[in-house]
Amino acid sequence: MSETKEPKSKFKFTCTKCGACCENRGPVPLTISDLEAWASKKIIRNMFPYIVIHREKASSITRLVFNMINDQPASKAKEGDSEKDNASRETGASSEKKEGGSTPEGGDEMDDIIVGEIVEKGKCPMYNKETKACLIWADRPTYCRAFPLGFEDGSFFVEMEDCPGLATKEEMSKDLLKQMRDDAKRLADDSRQVGIVLPILQALVMNALQQANLRAMSKMSPEDMQKLNDIMQKMSQK
Ligand code: SF4
Ligand code: SF4
Repeated sequence: MSETKEPKSKFKFTCTKCGACCENRGPVPLTISDLEAWASKKIIRNMFPYIVIHREKASSITRLVFNMINDQPASKAKEGDSEKDNASRETGASSEKKEGGSTPEGGDEMDDIIVGEIVEKGKCPMYNKETKACLIWADRPTYCRAFPLGFEDGSFFVEMEDCPGLATKEEMSKDLLKQMRDDAKRLADDSRQVGIVLPILQALVMNALQQANLRAMSKMSPEDMQKLNDIMQKMSQK
């Protein structure tokens, strides 16, 4: 992270869609607002496989992030190796996105929620390297909406000094700059509330599981349903 500073009133930025901030990066911080937005659009269960709740042992800080995908071979991590990514998957997120690109698939929401380690450097699971497209552009996290602007301790800062979008020197509209500033501030505010994210996330997972169970049960034969009932009755008798 670079030095903290107020964005100049002449802050100039136009994203060139180079993909540098999506292709080789650390985990993307997520907020309660992001979860709420995805929940209201009914796409949150498709994000679950990529969400990690990470607790830093040293600081005990809990972070909710999109985990990155380390798609570089361990022995020879060179550019262009192992181009396989999750680009063909499907999230169900809105179709507005950077040029081209498909959307990643949902997975088994419960199995894939990890409370554990994060990948420090890798490709965002929502990034399609081939088309250089964010697969959830219209529904991207607050962090990505504000990027490269950040906000900390009452001041704005530039998150990535060498972002090519800053070098374009193109004027931004006042509305867009205001939106980026608001998003950067909201990210900072929401990050302080991360402690209440866990029960919310748990409730969302339980809800998604309940729906998945109902769907599975609706496909069961009467015989299998009877067997299930018998098992549940025996369990409740113990
Ligand atoms: S924000 Fe900057 S680094 Fe990211 S895609 Fe746009 S120009 Fe590239
Ligand atoms: S969510 Fe989209 S914009 Fe954000 S880092 Fe991932 S690919 Fe890039």
